[in-house]
Order: sequence, then structure tokens, then C-alpha cells
Amino acid sequence: MLPLSDCLFCKIAEGTIPSRKVYEDEAVVAFHDIQPQAPVHLLVIPKKHIATMNDCAAEDQALLGHLLLSARQIAQEAGLAEDGYRLINNCGRDAGQVVFHVHWHILGGGKLGPLNA
Ligand code: IMP
Repeated sequence: MLPLSDCLFCKIAEGTIPSRKVYEDEAVVAFHDIQPQAPVHLLVIPKKHIATMNDCAAEDQALLGHLLLSARQIAQEAGLAEDGYRLINNCGRDAGQVVFHVHWHILGGGKLGPLNA
């Protein structure tokens, strides 16, 4: 696991690296992805540093539930609820995870292609 000071998303959560935040509460932050793959592409992260889904523990149950319900609210506020959206977590190298601070992509704003295209 990276020391917290080396984690990009920890720095975004702290505000030491700028981002286009759309949501923040005591446990979760959401912001625009810097390289959007859809008309709307947001990232939702816990403020707690957890590297991947594999590193989530039983003690994170409430945090993860809160994060997913926050993602639902964020998608709704972004105008995606009616036509739909995709919520994706890439876990590990084969899935294409490049930032090792667990996060969910919210993708929407238009018809999305097949998952593995
Ligand atoms: P992953 O492939 O699931 O790890 O996704 C990481 C995402 O973080 C990618 O979609 C990147 O475009 C995005 N990203 C990387 N650096 C930044 C940043 O500084 N601000 C916002 N998004 C970022």
C-alpha cells in the first residue's frame, strides 16, 4: 500500500491537488474524471485510503454502503437517473486499475458501448 502522501486520490480528497468536485461529505468525495470516457464521467472515492476492492474489510461495510448510496445520489443530481448510467470499479491490473485508491466510475449522459469493448 502506498504511503498516504503518495496517493493522488488522497490528495484530491484533502484538497491539496485540485479537482472539479461535485460532492463531498465526511466520508466520501466525488469529482470529474480528468479524461472522461463518456459525456458524464465522475469518480466517487472514500476519504479513507483503501487501495483496491481486495483490501476492503468487514469494518468497511458501512463506508461502502454509504459510498454506493452517495453514488446513486450523485448520479441523480448529475441528471443520469432517468436514462441510466454505469457504475464501475476496476480492481487490480487486469481490470485496468491505474490509481490504487479504491474508486467507482459513474459513466453516463449517452448510450454506452458494450462493457468489454
Ligand atoms: P482506474 O483505471 O479505474 O484506476 O481509473 C483511474 C481514473 O482516474 C482514470 O479514469 C483517470 O482518467 C482518472 N484520473 C487520473 N488522474 C486524475 C486526476 O488528477 N483527476 C481526476 N481524475 C483523474
